[in-house]
Amino acid sequence: MRLAHVLIVAGGSGTRLGAALPKQYLDLAGQSVLRRSVSAFRDHPAIAGIHVVIDPRHRAAYETSLAGLDLPPPIAGGATRQDSVRNGLAALAPLAPDLVLIHDAARPFVARDAIDRLLAALAEAEAAILALPVVDSLKRGAGDYIDAAVDRRDLWRAQTPQGFRFAAIFAAHRRAADSNPTNAEGASDDAAIAAAAGLRIRLVPGDPDNLKITNAADLAWAERRLMGENRMEYRTGSGFDVHRLIPGDGVTLCGIRIAHDRRLEGHSDADVALHALTDAILGALGAGDIGQHFPPSDSRWRGADSARFLDRARELVRERKGAIVHCDLTLICEAPKIGPHRAAMIARLAEILRLAPDRISVKATTTEKLGFTGRNEGIAAQAIATIALPLA
Ligand code: MG
Repeated sequence: MRLAHVLIVAGGSGTRLGAALPKQYLDLAGQSVLRRSVSAFRDHPAIAGIHVVIDPRHRAAYETSLAGLDLPPPIAGGATRQDSVRNGLAALAPLAPDLVLIHDAARPFVARDAIDRLLAALAEAEAAILALPVVDSLKRGAGDYIDAAVDRRDLWRAQTPQGFRFAAIFAAHRRAADSNPTNAEGASDDAAIAAAAGLRIRLVPGDPDNLKITNAADLAWAERRLMGENRMEYRTGSGFDVHRLIPGDGVTLCGIRIAHDRRLEGHSDADVALHALTDAILGALGAGDIGQHFPPSDSRWRGADSARFLDRARELVRERKGAIVHCDLTLICEAPKIGPHRAAMIARLAEILRLAPDRISVKATTTEKLGFTGRNEGIAAQAIATIALPLA
């Protein structure tokens, strides 16, 4: 197998994304764009070394970006991309590589099989690039209007990496610099330099995902690709409620009627457990509390089944295209005993919230006869709800 060295061109100072740092150093779902571009070539058996060309002013960002990857020291770039590549090739010359792949740092999605295809082509061709045939209709513009159509047949969009016999591309770059030393812009890719030197360049099918990150929309697309379309954030809310126990014939807890020698006092059915859980979900949404949504002063809620309140909280989560992930409820009382009703409570909560029962927990505790719950003056409930919401 012929071994290739990779030259990654990260010398650009393009800050079109409006960030302080050039795009190759920006974070892309937890790693810099540059680190992802470098990683695409690591561990490939035909890659003998990876060398990065940078603007020395960005050395600190480079070090942070590639910490722990154990690469050779970066190579100082030049004023243009073309100058940077030439500097990079000159730095590689003492290694006398057989092949060199030149790659833009702003393309973090090079697939392993695209590298394989390029290397396979280089077994015969002296130069080869990844490219995609143009599928969109092409127009030449004059101001805001079409001036003429352009025939797209035989047109390709050039990507990187672009691969070359090292000696041939190094000679081509030196010749280009000698013949046009005042070229302020420089060539936009190495295939142009190679073509000017008369090399025959093979077109190798590229990959539509091998996008060059140029603007903020590209970066957002790349993030979605890495994180999945449905990026969610997780939020947790807590709720707490107390209702007084007065003489009566039973209590309603988690929607379950339990015979008892007292009842809970309240405007609605006084289901302290459902109130705490409703507040927990509203808390996770940042949507106020149960009193705002269902004011005790409103006669509609007199004696109401508190399942309506919890159902409304569930609806609010759905309206935000979110999901309830988990609820954990603790009832605090000496009596009635909760244990015998726990399964029915979980089943009822699962029904109201339209959740699998394994996403719901109901626990109970006493306060060792201390305080108002210990004296059977009231029942307290506390709840924690975890919800997932799509990121904007
Ligand atoms: Mg209440």
